[in-house]
Amino acid sequence: MPRLTPPPVDRAAAARAAVAARRGRAAVKNAVASRTRSALDVAETAWAGEPTSPEGSLRVRELLTSIPGIGPTRVARIMTELGIAESKRVGGLGVRQRRILGDWLAAREAKGRLRSRLVVLAGPTAVGKGTVSTYIRENYPDVHLSVSATTRAPRPGEVDGVHYYFVDDAEFDRMIRDRELLEYATVHNSYRYGTPRPPLDAALTEGRSVLLEIDLQGARLVRAAMPEAVLVFLLPPTWDELVRRLIGRGTEDAAEQHRRLETAKVELAAQDEFDARVVNHDVAEAAREVVELMTAPDSGRTRA
Ligand code: 5GP
Repeated sequence: MPRLTPPPVDRAAAARAAVAARRGRAAVKNAVASRTRSALDVAETAWAGEPTSPEGSLRVRELLTSIPGIGPTRVARIMTELGIAESKRVGGLGVRQRRILGDWLAAREAKGRLRSRLVVLAGPTAVGKGTVSTYIRENYPDVHLSVSATTRAPRPGEVDGVHYYFVDDAEFDRMIRDRELLEYATVHNSYRYGTPRPPLDAALTEGRSVLLEIDLQGARLVRAAMPEAVLVFLLPPTWDELVRRLIGRGTEDAAEQHRRLETAKVELAAQDEFDARVVNHDVAEAAREVVELMTAPDSGRTRA
């Protein structure tokens, strides 16, 4: 008569083995979640070894869920797209499914490597560059927002070191002399603004995306110095809306408003020089589009 349950000794050994296997799989998932190991490496290890190894016995669904940034809903969608059944284990995939999953993981990793990039956000005066970059600072903490140096005085509520480094002319001259600025320009024929280089280099080295919110002259200088930078032009929904926003801000006198509108006309004419254009209908939506340009592999060059 067939025995339905293993004898007690076997059962204890099987239970211990099951616990060890679960621990092994948990360690693999943690390594992927903390980016110490890539999901592709896990899959390749599974396919080179035994299906009973921690990598081989891991479900595809669990492997994908442990990749940072992919939630369960997306995992379900991805598995449907790849044609892999919900219950499949990595080591149990057939040749064709291994190739499909391997290609998908490799493409995702290649995209991840392009993630760290320098994005320059420019656009006409009062279009809302500052509001969009503030929104990004508050809602996308992974993005490093460059803090410019300027010789203009702080406006009410502006904090030194957060919105700008407020410096005098002598200090700005020193920064130029010591080559501390990636670019600098005199904006609206009045004050000088520049991008400090050391914090930007440090963030890029750490693999973070960096956002510069600067004027058109600065954008051109960055393009010359760092051709890999993605230049994004922020557009107002309409010209009238731009005028309304500028007047509505109430921080400039009439002569200054006139000067800034003249600058804005010239700046709007330059939008074709940019890699991408984003219309600022809604701050959160515009911010999301800018951040997406940092993470998309090539769309930064084609989006308009
Ligand atoms: P605001 O005085 O209104 O803060 O800024 C005036 C202009 O200076 C804006 O168009 C802003 O994008 C630009 N700006 C701010 N920081 C920099 C910078 O570091 N370099 C350059 N070239 N322009 C900047």
